[in-house]
Amino acid sequence: MRASTYLDYNATQPIKPAVRDAMIDILAGPTNASSIHQIGQRARSRVEQARASVAALIGARPGDILFTSGATEANATVLRGVGLRQVVSAIEHPSIRAAATNPMVIPVDGSGLVDLDSLDRMLAGLGEPALVSVMLANNETGVIQPVAEAARIVHARGGLLHSDAAQAPGRIPVDVAALGVDLMTLSAHKMGGPQGAGALFIRDGLTLAPLLLGGGQEQRRRGGTENVAAIVGFGVAADLAAESPDLAELRDAMEAGLTQAAPEITVHGALAPRLGNTSCFGVPGLSAETALIALDLMGIAVSSGAACSSGAVEPSPVLLAMGVAQATAREAIRVSLGWATTPAEVDHLVESWAIVYRRTKAA
Ligand code: PMP
Repeated sequence: MRASTYLDYNATQPIKPAVRDAMIDILAGPTNASSIHQIGQRARSRVEQARASVAALIGARPGDILFTSGATEANATVLRGVGLRQVVSAIEHPSIRAAATNPMVIPVDGSGLVDLDSLDRMLAGLGEPALVSVMLANNETGVIQPVAEAARIVHARGGLLHSDAAQAPGRIPVDVAALGVDLMTLSAHKMGGPQGAGALFIRDGLTLAPLLLGGGQEQRRRGGTENVAAIVGFGVAADLAAESPDLAELRDAMEAGLTQAAPEITVHGALAPRLGNTSCFGVPGLSAETALIALDLMGIAVSSGAACSSGAVEPSPVLLAMGVAQATAREAIRVSLGWATTPAEVDHLVESWAIVYRRTKAA
């Protein structure tokens, strides 16, 4: 089921055809990668092939990759498995914020970048090594964080740096050595792979307490029978990530079109380095809810920066952390492009949004 114009790739991507084919092939047979018999061993070799592909995607060694059920589990594994004082940025995904224990929070500036001076002051004040979590690219604004600099600061204070990179592969180069991270989270469905698969990069020599106890799978780091089909699909998506199109030109043309229709538009995070596929914007007087519903009726799927919890639309904590006013935060919608996006779809969005905007102005 696909809306005629799907522009919500940061929420999830349509699965790539080669990924789907590889998974269907695996699903045709029994596949317990821990079984000794030949069928099990064939499954094992497919899992290890996928591990090598995911490792290669981020410049890691296969042995440094722990497969999980997604980025949420990888994040929880870090926050529950490292016994250090926790420091997280103000714009982390809810799977970090909710799993952290009494964390100190690093502020961000108006453009959406984490404040490294504050981080250094916090760590100096703590006087003990900390686990610091700074995401690589924000899911709402696309703002790319200074992770390599954060890692240098954290290491100088004796701590560990974790980065949630769920939104980054295929969009910007991701290299664990260049970034200097100790731990890194990945998610398959943010790169054309299946939902329910993710990975945690664990730097050689680091040990974490497992989140899931039971069988000895994943070198005793995560109990539970491996989801072989999803892992194989993840591996194929990782192989294909390098071929992802550069979408910045298309996104910039879209923002130019939107600005022409509504000069008072605000594009959140536009002053910082951003993922080329993401745009988070709004205009005064047009709520995200109204815009989303109107666009949906026109066959366009986008999302709002706001999270809908218990029936009430809450303004996005990410935008509030950037100092955006509550009312403005409630107006922000997110358009995210991806591997199957066409210029015609982007034109359709610009034209449709301009109609919704003009209707609001006239009301
Ligand atoms: N971290 C980030 C930055 C994300 O964007 C998401 C998905 N919205 C997650 C974590 C959670 O990923 P998953 O669905 O694989 O658990």
